[in-house]
Amino acid sequence: MTASAHQPRLCSLRNWQLWRQRPLAIAWLLAVAGIALIVTVLGYVFLEPTGHDLIVFGALIALGVVQAEISRHVERTRRSINTVRHVDLTSVWTFAGILLLPPGLAYSVIIVLYLHLGLRSWLGAQPLFQQIHAPAAVLVTAPFAQWLFHLISPVPFTNLAEASTTVLAATAVAALAYSVVDMFIIAIAAAVLRGGDSFRTYVGDFTNHGLDLSTNCIGAFVALALVYQPFFVVFTIVPVLVIHRSVLVKELEEKAIRDQKTGLLNATAWNEYANQELARAERHGTSFGLLMVDLDFFKRTNDTYGHLAGDNVLIAVAEVLRNETRRYDSAGRFGGEEFAVLLPESNRNEVALVAERIRVRISQLTVETDSEQGHVRIDDLTASLGVAIYPGQGRTIDTLLQTADAALYSAKRNGRNQVVGVALPTIGEAGQEEDKRAS
Ligand code: GH3
Ligand code: MG
Ligand code: MG
Repeated sequence: MTASAHQPRLCSLRNWQLWRQRPLAIAWLLAVAGIALIVTVLGYVFLEPTGHDLIVFGALIALGVVQAEISRHVERTRRSINTVRHVDLTSVWTFAGILLLPPGLAYSVIIVLYLHLGLRSWLGAQPLFQQIHAPAAVLVTAPFAQWLFHLISPVPFTNLAEASTTVLAATAVAALAYSVVDMFIIAIAAAVLRGGDSFRTYVGDFTNHGLDLSTNCIGAFVALALVYQPFFVVFTIVPVLVIHRSVLVKELEEKAIRDQKTGLLNATAWNEYANQELARAERHGTSFGLLMVDLDFFKRTNDTYGHLAGDNVLIAVAEVLRNETRRYDSAGRFGGEEFAVLLPESNRNEVALVAERIRVRISQLTVETDSEQGHVRIDDLTASLGVAIYPGQGRTIDTLLQTADAALYSAKRNGRNQVVGVALPTIGEAGQEEDKRAS
């Protein structure tokens, strides 16, 4: 989307996308922005910068802007592909500011660098409220990290020769807090904005946290250089640029195996994964289950509410598949409204239980969405499932898929909203299987 397409949102407060979010999300985003504003104002009220502070402030801004300009293309691409959790590299400079500068100036580094990032690299890639939330979360986190630093270290970072061990400990704790608190604020925002998925999904994985923490570590070195040998700071630029680029490569790899709409594996990646799982099951002599899930009368949903509402239904169904399966089960989107799920190391009864649970959860789904008829609640969804078990019903992924597909076809013919291919275990068996899965 072009920047101009977003301009009306910038200009007219009433048209802001923010107001179209859930009430809890609006409340959270406004609360974080409000605290950020108060923090900033208080920072300025008590600000009495020295000449040296102003020089450090100028240096950090200059470095941050230069780095962001050099890697503008990388950041733009990252911003356009990251939907859930986006870690930017600004904290290399902002964390150095937290260690070296008085509160007001430290916050100004954050504000100026995010303003630059927003205008030059992010504009148009995401709604404005999401772009504001990132610096707001940092502004809420910054005073906490600074407070922790001063709680642990009696001397400022600039006097680190006097109490190097204490300053080291204080820096480490502040770096950790600067990552963790920010991560939670952002994760809560994502959870209240999108709902559905488990909180873990929004917290992100080690790649995100590792990147965030690395930028803080480099930030500590920037601060060290600025205290002892300011010109040595240029040696941090190259690693930052290289890290930024390699993060993009990793994110592109991840994007290549995902279905863009639902975030599930795409058909190619799912097939590759399924064949690996097949080889493993052959080696270890274990069984696994394969489910084909197809929404019932989905065309009707599209025809009634429009394609965009249909898309939101697909996203909600994908969330059901993620939430109702284990971390190492793999759900893929096969195209349209057809999904495949592979359940490794599962026997017939376990597979039957999971399939039935997915069927029930989809039938209980309520999807609130904008549609061609305004805001609607879609709650008449059902799905049919076809199941095949390795090795009994096929010894290759293709034959298993054919078997599951045939079962799915039977489910459709028999009246939909049902699982075909495995019988549900009796009550006693089911209890034992649930205990086994839980343990
Ligand atoms: P059945 O119960 O027999 O499966 O009926 P159905 O209407 O679900 O089956 P059919 O396969 O005929 O229709 C699938 C529909 O899915 C047709 C198409 O418009 C819609 N569809 C496919 N991909 C997408 C998508 O990405 N987004 C949306 N919104 N709709 C899609
Ligand atoms: Mg269908
Ligand atoms: Mg279909």
